[in-house]
Amino acid sequence: MQTVDQFKPDAIIIGTGLAGLTAAMEITNAGKKVLLLDQETEKNIGGQAYWSFGGLFLINSSQQRLMGIKDSFDLAHQDWMSTASFDRPEDYWPRQWAEAYLNFAAAEKYDYLAKLGIKLMFMVGWAERGDGSASGHGNSVPRFHVSWGTGVGVVKPFVEKAYQAERKGLLLFKFRHRVTNLISRNGAVKGVSGDILADDDQERGVATNRNVISSFSFYAPHIVIASGGIGGNHELVRENWPARLGIAPLKMISGVPAYVDGKMIGVAEKMGAHMINRDRMWHYTEGVQNWNSIWPDHGIRILPGPSSMWFDAKGDRLPAPYLPGFDTLGTLKYLQQNGSSYSWFILTQNILKKEFALSGSEQNPDITNKDYWLFLQRLFGRKATGPVESFKEKGEDFVVADSLEALVKQMNQLTGDGMLDYEHIKSQIVARDRELDNPFSKDFQVNYIRSTRK
Ligand SMILES: Cc1cc2nc3c(=O)[nH]c(=O)nc-3n(C[C@H](O)[C@H](O)[C@H](O)COP(=O)(O)OP(=O)(O)OC[C@H]3O[C@@H](n4cnc5c(N)ncnc54)[C@H](O)[C@@H]3O)c2cc1C
Repeated sequence: MQTVDQFKPDAIIIGTGLAGLTAAMEITNAGKKVLLLDQETEKNIGGQAYWSFGGLFLINSSQQRLMGIKDSFDLAHQDWMSTASFDRPEDYWPRQWAEAYLNFAAAEKYDYLAKLGIKLMFMVGWAERGDGSASGHGNSVPRFHVSWGTGVGVVKPFVEKAYQAERKGLLLFKFRHRVTNLISRNGAVKGVSGDILADDDQERGVATNRNVISSFSFYAPHIVIASGGIGGNHELVRENWPARLGIAPLKMISGVPAYVDGKMIGVAEKMGAHMINRDRMWHYTEGVQNWNSIWPDHGIRILPGPSSMWFDAKGDRLPAPYLPGFDTLGTLKYLQQNGSSYSWFILTQNILKKEFALSGSEQNPDITNKDYWLFLQRLFGRKATGPVESFKEKGEDFVVADSLEALVKQMNQLTGDGMLDYEHIKSQIVARDRELDNPFSKDFQVNYIRSTRK
């Protein structure tokens, strides 16, 4: 096998997630040689994106037009800039990036995906409906295009391109290589060094060992860091927690595998990299513990439709705009400030069947495996999808009952703190449902549901 010295890479990329694979594809397409390093095993190629729902941001696509959604560059620009709230001198580059990405999503991205063989489903979802104002946070229209194949389908062509480049002699993989240091020559980073970790035959996503068996140093004219975020490292999340969100929750769960450890950020910083926006982090408030965990503290995000009612730990309905799927960080801040370390969705089986989905490729086997029969059952079956029904039965955060009274009793039993009052919860549900009896309403959620069903 060729050594790295013999291979002589033009670039070293740290990370075989989607970012690293995309960079590798672009560099090898230009005929240059790439050394691709990852601390994980080869089974984990594709990183987080493999586990993702594969929701893709596009502007004014044919799918949107077919659904009667009128999107435009200007509307998407307004939404992006309002959500990002760029207000710092160091926002110069993030702003340039946002402009470039908006242009990409409104034009070239559609064909770029098609050329890679990534197919989009006919339905466009609505990630982050927002804070209720035109110039505030969120998306004004649905833009979340689900790929047929979820994240597994998104990652596949990039993985295939990397192996093709390997066969052509343009790419060399080194798995179980954890970078712990960047090597500088004449003021520029020209190399990386670190630990070689012992092999591990765990399945994809399961945390692997960190036993060091050797060390390495490699050099190249260009170094690309594509090591992902910090979500799997709660210590780092707490360290960087922004004061504006209140105190960090005592208990957190992880939407990402353990290898999303954020340690490479510290390595880069030690070498003088200018880190910005550490406090701008993203969390999903609608997270539940996975009953069938793959990685440590495995959390799954509920992709809620708009109809479930959302209550704080004391049983008070959350005020607008803190509704399911609207403003996750706003809701998190609200709950933290109101002293709720958890919250409740209350919904019927009908809502569960029609609206309730779970994020992640393994939670959507019909779309991930491109199984039309299973997908038709999602649309027309009598029950919710298999994974949703399994969570209902086995999820430790789920309580199911035939009457509201029995439900509230079980909710109190689950938490052990007895904070919920049946009559209080019932009165809020009855009041909301009373607003459904005619086409007029003052309830924000009811009006919203109606506007989305037009
Ligand atoms: C369940 C789930 C659902 C999601 N759904 C969506 C969605 O619908 N739409 C969307 O846009 N996004 C979604 N995301 C987010 C998206 O998948 C990620 O933002 C994206 O995949 C990150 O890619 P990355 O290459 O930057 O990082 P990663 O995938 O984390 O890859 C980084 C790689 O770097 C390696 N690494 C880290 N440090 C070192 C080191 N020191 N030395 C060597 N290697 C190192 C890691 O082992 C890892 O393999 C979802 C994510 C998850 C987990």
